[in-house]
Amino acid sequence: MTGLLGSIRFWGEAIVRGLGLWACDPTTSDSCRYQTSLADICLVCQVFGCNGFSAAFKIEITQSDAETQLVAIKRNTADRRHNGWRIPTQPQKPFTIRITPRQSQSIDPEYTLTTLKVILKLIEKFGAIGAKASQGCGIISTDIRLNDDTITNWNNRTQKKSQPNKSNDQLPSIAHLTSLRSQISALPEAFLKTQINGNPNWQVASQAFRIWLRNQFRTGNNAQAKRHEIMGTVGGKNASKRSDIWVSQGYLAASGIWEVRIVAWNQNHAYKGDIQKSFESLKQLNTLNANWIDYPDQSEKFLKALSQ
Ligand SMILES: [Zn+2]
Repeated sequence: MTGLLGSIRFWGEAIVRGLGLWACDPTTSDSCRYQTSLADICLVCQVFGCNGFSAAFKIEITQSDAETQLVAIKRNTADRRHNGWRIPTQPQKPFTIRITPRQSQSIDPEYTLTTLKVILKLIEKFGAIGAKASQGCGIISTDIRLNDDTITNWNNRTQKKSQPNKSNDQLPSIAHLTSLRSQISALPEAFLKTQINGNPNWQVASQAFRIWLRNQFRTGNNAQAKRHEIMGTVGGKNASKRSDIWVSQGYLAASGIWEVRIVAWNQNHAYKGDIQKSFESLKQLNTLNANWIDYPDQSEKFLKALSQ
């Protein structure tokens, strides 16, 4: 539950920032605090709530987001130093999200509902959701349909909402995504080793893509620092660093079409050029025989893609 709501909010923040508005980072002490008016808090807090202000909706999920067990998998190599990865034993079963908007100051129920639909549609097309997203799962398919008019009206209304007069380019925003999707008809042995719990719709792919990408940052000046900054670190002498690149597992998008999503959050990233270069090299990889689809390069185009 927290995992789902947390990721919906995260993508909501990324959209709002991408549209040039301020969205706070609720995980920091700098996050919004309601005092006297809506102008005290960002639009995301107006919808999702924050200190002193309740959420503009209630969310219920028909099926519990129960923890599934994680199972360790290992790469089939002689490298004994590698401890393997832990992946969920099975994907989530279908579930229903029931959203009940509440009457709230200046945020009417229809606006709240459309906001959440826009966010969920964006996740469906470009992201992932829930606690298991960090293991490369969390790709969803929804029955939400949005048309151009709905999206345009929502964008116009969004631009007029009152909120703090701040700007921040440092936090995740859809305006700064470098991302792509591969469509592969057959999964290459070298990249993909095993199904997730025998489920024919999922294949372990994320880790192999990550190894390939990590290897792209092993040369040149300051390679280790660069690699750790981009791909992240776990434990060790220094504190863990989250990876700026997220890679999904392989999922069956249509009959005979496997997809893998790769998302780089690289706002003001010192290594933005390196990330782009590695993505270009990945696209050229003959063994993958993949059809690559670039994500839109502007927030407006992201919104436009939601009605298609
Ligand atoms: Zn806020």
